[in-house]
Formats: sequence, structure tokens, C-alpha cells
Amino acid sequence: MAVTAVREVSVFGDGIAYFNEAAALLELDPGMRAILTHPSRQIIFSIPFQRDSGEFEVFTGYRVQYNFARGPAKGGIRFHPGVTLDEVTALAFWMTWKCAVVDLPFGGGKGGVTCDPTTLSMNELERITRRYAAELVEVVGPDKDVPAPDVGTTPQTMAWFMDTYSMHIRQNVAGVVTGKPLEIGGSRGRVEATGRGVTICAMDQMSHLGIDPKGARVVIQGFGNVGMYAAKLFEERGCNVVGISDVTGAYYNGAGINVNGAEEYAKKNHNLGGFTGGDRITNAELLETDCDVLVPAALEKQLTTENARRVRAKLLVEGANGPTTPEADRIFQEMGVCVIPDIMANAGGVTVSYFEWVQDRAGYFWKEAEVNARLEENLLENFAEIRRIAQLHNVAFRTAAYMIAIERVVTSLKLRGVYA
Ligand code: NAD
Repeated sequence: MAVTAVREVSVFGDGIAYFNEAAALLELDPGMRAILTHPSRQIIFSIPFQRDSGEFEVFTGYRVQYNFARGPAKGGIRFHPGVTLDEVTALAFWMTWKCAVVDLPFGGGKGGVTCDPTTLSMNELERITRRYAAELVEVVGPDKDVPAPDVGTTPQTMAWFMDTYSMHIRQNVAGVVTGKPLEIGGSRGRVEATGRGVTICAMDQMSHLGIDPKGARVVIQGFGNVGMYAAKLFEERGCNVVGISDVTGAYYNGAGINVNGAEEYAKKNHNLGGFTGGDRITNAELLETDCDVLVPAALEKQLTTENARRVRAKLLVEGANGPTTPEADRIFQEMGVCVIPDIMANAGGVTVSYFEWVQDRAGYFWKEAEVNARLEENLLENFAEIRRIAQLHNVAFRTAAYMIAIERVVTSLKLRGVYA
């Protein structure tokens, strides 16, 4: 009883539940399971900073380096009021499997600061970011741990992080973070990469399900880096984006939202609040809208036992990390809703982050067409492997993805051996 209660509130618990299902099918021995269900390192620290008004405040910062078996830790930095050690650990755990499932030479990491960036000025955000980076100087670096943007952080955040790190170690190190502005070592195509990956996976699966992209009804929760670019790219491919949302609410237009208009509106007003290009509905109604493709691209635990049975999408593409609880996932399997799991669906971002890291180290930058072509090739190749394993073992894509990822991490771990 107590375990269930913990599971239902813990995001890391959701991740472990998915891991356990795949580990059981792989007959993974208890020792390996123990290693892989424990984070390598969890760091918690205080971030004292001065408001523009002169007052002092203290926020809490986190960095979790979950696993290094396949390479340096890799994962974003989140600035959000809901950031906790549990959430950051879960996100670092998922990064481990995500990097493995798309076959990148990285482990998993994630970080965050419990703060509300929408209430902070640019100067305050810069001070918080620089203090956050300074606290981590010894444990990050191109061969140690490479952060990137996540919810509430942007290329500008990465520029401050990179500058702070470079000042501390007295040399320019572009490859310490990815998702930087182009002018200081960013990669072409990185900003759109997660949304692009979402649409690449969705289009591929739609063709398998016989859903014609032309006029297919798409609903997207979250209109940030992932959701907005996904919406634009779905529209570009002829889909009808009928619903969008952000923290201010949701908007429905059966004839199709004008996505570029919504983008302009959100950029001008900092969010979609007051957008008139669709009827105002609740976020709960948005997730239950009749559609072909549903893309949760906001936060964890959006699809739960509360609403899963009312979801009417044929295909669920997880742009966000952990948007579906294991209980809701089981309901989707019963209902025959096809789910492309987060560790595959949103892996476009980390894939182009890897390309950025490679370009920074080589000091040679690729054209956007090359980035996009390599991204598509890598995602489709690894998605095909998931499909193959899913068919072979008669399991859902999520379980197949975890099976592939776990096997890859375990192989590296066994080759390296456990140093003791
Ligand atoms: P973001 O900060 O750019 O955007 C988040 C969006 O979600 C905003 O539009 C916000 O208003 C909205 N939102 C927040 N709470 C909401 C709610 N309760 N209901 C509806 N909308 C809500 O963040 P992002 O980078 O787009 O990340 C979104 C998700 O995608 C996260 O789960 C993140 O971990 C995941 N992800 C991001 C990347 C990346 O490259 N940025 C890569 C992989 C996965």
C-alpha cells in the first residue's frame, strides 16, 4: 500500500516501473538492476542571489549524474517552481536510456533550479545561472557532463553557463554545454531539433498506421521549445493542428490553428494568454480532444488513470519526458492507443546536441541540411530497431525501447567492469 502511494507521487518511481518491466523480460540479474536503479551522483546546493531590488534570496540547485557507462553525462537544466531532487533524478535516469536508445556516446544527467523564471528579470536570471554554473565547475566539462536547455532555460542561459565555466578554467570551452546560440559554437538546427524529432517519429508511425498526414488532426500540449516547433513542422507537412496550449490555457480550432500566427503572438506576449485564433478550452479538455495525434510537450504526469480512458487520439507521441504514468500507459495498451515513448520521441534534441558537441570539438560547423539529414537518419534507424524488438517480443514500443537501451548500457558497463 505504502509503495503504491510513493509510486504515484514519485516521478522517478514512474521511470523505475518502466525499467523494471524491461529488465524482467531481459532477465537482468539483481546486481545489474541495483547498479542501474541508483544514480551515480546527486548534487544539491544553495544559490544565494541578489534581486534587482537589492534583497537577497536563496534558491536550491541540483545536478544529477545518473550514469557514465557510455560516456559523459548529458542532459538539460530546468528552471521551474516544481523542480525537486526526485524530478531531476527521474529526468537524469531517462537521459541515460534516451542517449542509449539513439546510440549516442553519452550517459545521463539532468539539473535544475527551483525557481519561477517568469518572475525574474534577465539580470536576475544571469546571476542565478552564473552561480549555478560556478557551483558545478569541477564536475562538468566536455568529457564529464554536458548540460543543455530544458523547461525554462534557453540558448541565452547556455551562453551564460559556457562563459562562467570558461572564465573559471581560463580557456574557452564551447563544448561544456549544448543548445548555445550559433554565434558562440551552437549547431544549426538545434533549436528546432526536439520538435523536428517528434514529427519525424510521428510521420514514420503514421505511415505504418495508415494515417494520411494531409489533414491529420494534431493536438499539442505545451507551446515552448518542443511544442511550438513540433506544431510548425506538423503544419508544414500538411497536418491540421487543431489544438495547442500553454500554462495560460488551451485553444481549439477545428479548421486548424494558424501556427505561425500563434508563434508570433506567443513571442510578443511571452505566452498564449488572450490568443484569439481558437476557442478557449481547458488543458484537461485539450488532452481529451478527438484527434489523430496527441503530443504532450509540457511536463510529467499529464496522462494518468484520471483521464487516460477519455483520450481519443490514435497515436500518442511523447514530446515531454514522463508525460504518461505507468498506470495510464497500461490503459493505452488496452485501448490500442499507439505510444511512441519519450526516450525515442523527444530524442531529436539530444541527438543534435551530440552533433553540436562533435562540431565544437572539431571546430568545424555543418550546414543545416546536413544536421537535419543526419538527425532523420539516426532517429529512423533506431526507431526501426524499436519496432523490430517490439514485434519480436510482442511488447509495446516503450518496453522495446527500454530493452534496447538497457542492453546497450549493460554491455558498456560489463566491458568497462565495475571499479571497486
Ligand atoms: P519550455 O519551457 O520551452 O516550454 C514549456 C511549455 O509548456 C510552455 O509553453 C509552458 O507554458 C507549457 N506548460 C507548462 N505547464 C503547463 C501545463 N500545466 N499545461 C500546459 N502547458 C504547460 O520547455 P521545453 O524545452 O519545450 O520542454 C517541454 C518538455 O519537453 C519537457 O518535458 C522537457 O523535459 C522535454 N524535452 C525538452 C527538450 C529540449 O530540447 N528543450 C528535449 C527533450 C525533451
